[in-house]
This record gives sequence, structure tokens and C-alpha cells, in this order.
Amino acid sequence: MDSQWLAAFKGKFTGNIVNSNDQFRELIEAYAIGSLDAPERAQLEAHLASGCDDCEKALQEARWLVSQLAYLAPNAEPSDMLKGRLLQTVRAEAAGSAARRQVVGGAGIPSWLWAGVAALLLFSLYSAWIAHKMHDEVAYLQQQAKIEQAERERLEAELGAAKTQAHEAMIWSDPKSKKIMLRPKDPKMPDLEAMWHPDMGLVVRGWKVPSPGEKRMLQLWLIPKAGGKPMPSMTLWPDANGKFSAMVENPPDTMSDTQALAITEEPIGGSPQPTSAPMWVGGVS
Ligand SMILES: [Zn+2]
Repeated sequence: MDSQWLAAFKGKFTGNIVNSNDQFRELIEAYAIGSLDAPERAQLEAHLASGCDDCEKALQEARWLVSQLAYLAPNAEPSDMLKGRLLQTVRAEAAGSAARRQVVGGAGIPSWLWAGVAALLLFSLYSAWIAHKMHDEVAYLQQQAKIEQAERERLEAELGAAKTQAHEAMIWSDPKSKKIMLRPKDPKMPDLEAMWHPDMGLVVRGWKVPSPGEKRMLQLWLIPKAGGKPMPSMTLWPDANGKFSAMVENPPDTMSDTQALAITEEPIGGSPQPTSAPMWVGGVS
């Protein structure tokens, strides 16, 4: 910590004061804490009034630093080791610079210098706090972005479901749709209903259909007139109430080439050809 202080101290006072060509610049800190004598103060004020931007900027910075010292009061006293090192540094600077003002008196480091060091420490703490706060804000923004993304996906899914429902409703109610009754092989099973629209697709609906179990699902087949193999179509599950409504937008064959619709029970994922006898069959044309 001490070496950081020292580096900051050197950077500030060496860079801003000692290397400055402006003789008034080095008085600014002392002026800001009111430690200049009357003639010096008058000279500096005249210089400021003449419109020196560098000194004006330095004065604002110094006043800000000084204003922060109120918060540091109990811990502003630096360690003996730091005092020793600062003293060495300041003496070296004083010896190397004939132009230096009497910032360092015979009694040692003036109080405003400790105030400056304390303000620098405060400034480094403040910077660390800002960095930490920004880190938190970035994390917060990233979390917000995730929430918004999830919300957008949810809305898109809802929109997709609403579109499907609207599409099914159009097929179901359009007069061009052909109604197909699917009769069960097992008389204890309910009838299913299908509506096939020549352009919009095919909807199959069921009510009070028993669950095929966790490892099975129902699958729709189109039985072609030409006598070929059943053509696989969508898979479907009844909900907890035994209800389902499922749509095929593009059936694998046309209505006029299809003899019948059939539904079998198949393993999860469906099958390329039926693995069991049809549970429901309905004539198409
Ligand atoms: Zn100036």
C-alpha cells in the first residue's frame, strides 16, 4: 500500500508541479487549503484572474480533493514509514529543483501535503469503488438481457401456438374441409374426428382418449388408394383430460389419392411403418 501511495504521490506532484513551467501552478494545492500567505495569495489570484486555464483546472481539482478530506479525518495520519519515504522523496525533489517554492519548510512536511496524500488514497479507494460498482452494473445488465431474451422466446412460442390454433380453427370451420370420422376397433374407445382441407391441411381431434402410457404415443397414417404401404404422418398425445388437437399442414398425400386415415400406438418418436394394428380407421374417399 505504501509503495502505491508513493507512486501516486510522485506522479501527481512531480508531474503536475515540478515539471510545470508555470510558477503559479505549484501554489494551487496550498491555495486550495488556505495555507498561502497574503502576498502569495494576492499574486496567485491576480494570475487566476488573468485567465490561466491550467491553474483554473488545477484549482478545481484541488478543491475537489480537499472537499473529500472531511470523510477521511480519523485515518488521515500516515504511517511513520510512509512519512519517512515521502520526506526522502520531497527532499530529493527540493534539491533537484532550484525553482521550487518553499513548499517544504524547515519543520518538515506541511499539513496540506498530508492532506494531498490522504486525498490521493481516497481517490484510489473511490476509483476501486466505481470499478466494483460498474462490475455489478454490467452483471445486472447481463441478467436483464437474459430475462428479456427468455420473455421474447416465451412470446414467440405463444405467438406460434396462437397461429397454429388459428390455422386449426380455419381448417375446422372452412366449408371446403371434408369431415372424416375415425371409428375405434375397441368399442370402449371414443370416436375421433378429422377435417381435411384441400389447401390448408388436416386436423385430427379426440376427446376422452385414454393415455397410451409414458412410453407410447399415437401416430396418424395415410392409407393410399393405390394399395401401397401406409404413409407415416404426425404423432400425437392426449392431454390429462384425454383431449388432443393435432394438425398436418402438408399431408404426405392428397385427399383424392388417400383411401383412409388410421391411427396406431407406436413407441415414442413414431415409426416409419406401423408396428401394431390400427386402433382407429376412417374412410376418406
Ligand atoms: Zn497558471
